[in-house]
Amino acid sequence: MMFPVRCFSCGTVVSEVYGEYHERLTNGEKSDEILDDLDITKYCCRRMFASHRLHNDKDLFDDVMEYK
Ligand SMILES: [Zn+2]
Repeated sequence: MMFPVRCFSCGTVVSEVYGEYHERLTNGEKSDEILDDLDITKYCCRRMFASHRLHNDKDLFDDVMEYK
């Protein structure tokens, strides 16, 4: 599944930062801290990252649930 270019809700371009987000997540940084750092502050946009991660890494399912 490709990461969407824009947030479905507000249209903010989110694909630009996904590469860095994923790389830092792989390096063990916390999702919340990376998103803050990348200026992904809106709930709708953060949910894009959280829900996408659900498809890639089922071990992180518990973290994703807090966004619902
Ligand atoms: Zn958004």
